[in-house]
Amino acid sequence: MTLTFRDARECVVREVSARVPVLFTEEVPLAAAGSRVLALPATADRDLPALDRSVRDGFAVRAADLPGPLKIAGEVRAGEAALAPLHPGEAIEIMTGAPLPAGADTVVMVEHVTRQEATLHLDRPATKGQFISRRGEEARAGQVLIEAGKRLDSSDLAVLASSGHATVSVFARPRVAILPTGDELVDVDAVPHPHQVRNSNVYSLARQVEVAGGSPEILPVARDREEHTRELIERALTADLLLLSGGVSAGKYDVVERVLADLGAEFYFDRVKIQPGQPVVFGRVRDRFFFGLPGNPGSTMVTFEILARAAVELLGGQRESVLPFALGRLTEPFHHKPGLTRFLPARLSGMGDLVRVPWHGSSDMPAISRANAFLVADAEREQWNAGDTMPVLLK
Ligand code: AMP
Ligand code: MG
Repeated sequence: MTLTFRDARECVVREVSARVPVLFTEEVPLAAAGSRVLALPATADRDLPALDRSVRDGFAVRAADLPGPLKIAGEVRAGEAALAPLHPGEAIEIMTGAPLPAGADTVVMVEHVTRQEATLHLDRPATKGQFISRRGEEARAGQVLIEAGKRLDSSDLAVLASSGHATVSVFARPRVAILPTGDELVDVDAVPHPHQVRNSNVYSLARQVEVAGGSPEILPVARDREEHTRELIERALTADLLLLSGGVSAGKYDVVERVLADLGAEFYFDRVKIQPGQPVVFGRVRDRFFFGLPGNPGSTMVTFEILARAAVELLGGQRESVLPFALGRLTEPFHHKPGLTRFLPARLSGMGDLVRVPWHGSSDMPAISRANAFLVADAEREQWNAGDTMPVLLK
């Protein structure tokens, strides 16, 4: 079955989401929890902030006493409990993060006052309640701060730390088998004959799997024969997900689909209207999902990123899988033949200008290496002008 890019992606998300098995969890120290997927909701162990506090260096005052003059009656520092209450007509010097003394309802900034000895004058009007962070305004004790199924970023680590989560329960990484196929492949440390190529896809794929939160397991190269391919597929099916590279095109020795069909596979699609990567295959065999990624390195990379990555993320316990799209502004016109969604190597400058990187087709990894994004040309549209914005998929 041939699908559009959008339908193919929705198909992957729908099928995988519906069949995520019960996942194993592990407890890891907070410092090791970055990029892991939270397995249990994380709650606040106390109100955040835990008391009313100042968000500026300045003076705690009563709005009713303003504009003063006020008598400076003491100070309270961050890390100190506020002991002395504020009496009418007084100000207490206060530092950022310090507790608001009882009786104070406003903070004025140190930059906005004049002090003479122990007397304070306000140089500009103040609004009652300003520069105070109220107890519990960010979260209440017991409240869920982070839902299970979130991949933890640096802000999550700060949230977990501030609420006392020294260890974190996360989902085990899904094991992702990577099975390269092709009679032409040799190892990276071999000296290939001109008709041979080095097996580079396993390196890029393994890294893509890691970035997606999976644990890659690289299998030996399956030669383009049914028995050998079948043997290695059966071995690979002990993993949680199977990624095959190569052997899914229409060539006589592209045996992957036949072998999978013999093993009883169900195919959700075997062609997607994209370039590179049209012959990409997605299905399920013996309770495992598999992708047959076309072997040309650019196709392998793009099809993993736009389709297979979602499966790794969902099997890793993530609630959602989001493609990292951004917008770039074309510096030159762009046109393509409609019908396929194209993902072409491009460079996005720091200011959002988008320039194509010249490339020679799906095997041109040096061009993809020079790129920092793929521009995404909609299958329905033919022409873009210089200055038009275009979506890009960040690399
Ligand atoms: P295939 O999808 O099997 O028709 O492979 C298409 C082309 O991709 C082959 O001719 C190889 O040059 C290249 N290729 C396939 N597998 C790999 C791999 N593991 N590493 C690098 N290149 C590959
Ligand atoms: Mg092949």
